[in-house]
Amino acid sequence: MKIFTTKKETENYFANKGQKITGFVATMGALHQGHISLIKQAQQSTDEVTCSIFVNPTQFTDPKDLEKYPRPIAADIAMLEQAGCDVLFNPPVNEMYDDNEKWHLNLGDLEHLLEGKFRPGHYQGVTQVVYKLFNIVKPDFAFFGQKDYQQVLVVNKMIELLNMPVKLVMCPIERENDGLAMSSRNIHLTPFDRENALILSKALNWAKNNFDSNNIPAIQQQAQQMISSQPGVELEYLEIADGQTLHTATSETKNIVALVAARVGKTRLIDNMLFDW
Ligand code: AMP
Repeated sequence: MKIFTTKKETENYFANKGQKITGFVATMGALHQGHISLIKQAQQSTDEVTCSIFVNPTQFTDPKDLEKYPRPIAADIAMLEQAGCDVLFNPPVNEMYDDNEKWHLNLGDLEHLLEGKFRPGHYQGVTQVVYKLFNIVKPDFAFFGQKDYQQVLVVNKMIELLNMPVKLVMCPIERENDGLAMSSRNIHLTPFDRENALILSKALNWAKNNFDSNNIPAIQQQAQQMISSQPGVELEYLEIADGQTLHTATSETKNIVALVAARVGKTRLIDNMLFDW
């Protein structure tokens, strides 16, 4: 695997890519099988796969969260080698940002709903870094996880707004055997938290299995109740929403997604589930 840490060497490398179809997976590292599933999906449909590892400061609202974000780079490199990843782009912060850089994209409602409400500025930071990464790596296809469903919508919106020549592919959520969605943040869970965290996927599954389009508010409320009554878990939101707009679903909505965020002990977790797509 080629490892680049500067924009220049990465850009130079991709300037001569010829006819190759390239795939890209953007990550913040602390890799797990969820990330590797994106690499594998990218390998199936492209000629060469690049992964980036960059803990992007501009998308963190809480400085403590940024500080404690895990950074096991040696283990990450070993995992990528093992997965057969072709290129790793792993820049330091000053390679990606100048001092006092400004960025703003009009993302509409998507920026302020759900995650946006609890993490103000998060999607400006996400689009800022993904824009830079796309311009450096110039991928034909970018593989993003459904795990961050709202992020997929936001990045697609940016691609459309800025007319970028890349196609986003959304990949399914990888879960532990007991249903917990894999996440780099799961390592912060105590054994007590780890047990309590199962309520997120349980509530989403319950809502999916009991879904009734004429009774959405009641189902949403019941699923919220399941999470709120779990010890050690503080619900931020659970919404049964329209999969395109993320507005609350109605009996007319075609593509429904249920999305949840909660604090489990000190760790903030998100999860979601698609209904009848
Ligand atoms: P992150 O390193 O958390 O920024 O995630 C990098 C990419 O991996 C994003 O597109 C995520 O949606 C995706 N991802 C994270 N967790 C999972 C998972 N459990 N299953 C599939 N993809 C995931």
